[in-house]
Amino acid sequence: MISVDAYLTRILSAVTTVESSTVALADAHGRTLRAPVHAAVDLPVFDNSAMDGFAVRFVDVSHASPATPAVLRVIADLPAGTALTPVLGVGEAARIMTGAPVPVSADAIVPFEDTAGGLEDSLDVVRVLRPPRAAGAHIRRRGEDCAAGTVLVPAGVRLGPLQVAAIAAGNCDRVDVSRRPRVAVISTGSELVPPGSALSHGQIPESNALLLSALATETAAEVVLRGTVGDVDDDLRAALAEATARGADAVITSGGVSAGAFEVVKNTIAEMTFQKVAMQPGKPQGFAAGPPLLFGLPGNPVSAAVSFEAFVRPALLAMQGRADLHRRMLRLPAAQGWRVPQGRRQYLPVVLVDGGVAPATAGGSHLAGGLAGAEAYAVIPADVDTVSHGDLVDVMLVS
Ligand code: AMP
Ligand code: MG
Repeated sequence: MISVDAYLTRILSAVTTVESSTVALADAHGRTLRAPVHAAVDLPVFDNSAMDGFAVRFVDVSHASPATPAVLRVIADLPAGTALTPVLGVGEAARIMTGAPVPVSADAIVPFEDTAGGLEDSLDVVRVLRPPRAAGAHIRRRGEDCAAGTVLVPAGVRLGPLQVAAIAAGNCDRVDVSRRPRVAVISTGSELVPPGSALSHGQIPESNALLLSALATETAAEVVLRGTVGDVDDDLRAALAEATARGADAVITSGGVSAGAFEVVKNTIAEMTFQKVAMQPGKPQGFAAGPPLLFGLPGNPVSAAVSFEAFVRPALLAMQGRADLHRRMLRLPAAQGWRVPQGRRQYLPVVLVDGGVAPATAGGSHLAGGLAGAEAYAVIPADVDTVSHGDLVDVMLVS
């Protein structure tokens, strides 16, 4: 048996990075950035108002009180988007809305709430009842968030919603991202029929193709083929040829890699190396460096899901130039104890509960239904013999 880490290292050494291209920011969600994005403008772009109210000169209002309001002449009306640049003289104010540029000579904003007439107090004269706390109050300063040229998002990072929005805010509309890796998913098993079928005796609904396609899609891969073949050598060969014809960078098969009598992947794919990996579930694994990369995952649904996390996902991310290939890990207490295998790393589907994590299933690799409740995997090192209530365990978040 080989360790999970050693096996992953072997897989990653076979990975080559896909090419990158420049795409519209609107098409970049979920993709991996290949060149850092620098802010094209200062953020904020200009000094602007944080409140709806009046732009004033602080000295004009610093002694205002409800008994002795400061009375200012309103000389301009500044909605967001205005191009006006009024200059305030002594005793003058401009009505201003959130996000509008602050007049150069103004150094504070008085919110409507601190004036006598509120919104209606314009456009002629405003009576300020309470001074802002200091000069500069309620003004968002140009560049206080980041200066033009600052790296907003470094290369190697996934462009999630927050990153895409920051790049847009920095006035950039094109980004250099990895091409989507092309992935083919082929389930094997003569017992498998499409979900929703009338099941004859011995048949079960096929579920790994949807599982593995969805997991691949979440890495920003493009699924170019999704299919199921029986345990028939020629059918698997034909599916592999189709995957190659569609330009697959990676082919993921499920089933047919263990020690039974009809192991179609094992029997058919001569270039694959088959290996027992010290993990549970997911012990039997097949792999070929390709190209395309060939992943022969075991067929039990939990095994397939865990194998994807352990090997396929890091490989698909490495292909895209991702700096961090791993899921977010937390250390959390076990809310109850559970059984662990000897000498193999355990990946146990768990739920997050008050006080830590609890098993989502009884731990069997066939428990596809219970997997629906899982939010994470507890990852227990091969040399740990027991997990007891309260033990801190490593938890890999997957949802
Ligand atoms: P195998 O790895 O082919 O020996 O399959 C192990 C177990 O997983 C068997 O009980 C199969 O019926 C089941 N299985 C294999 N492939 C799938 C699949 N694509 N969807 C659902 N169950 C599967
Ligand atoms: Mg099978």
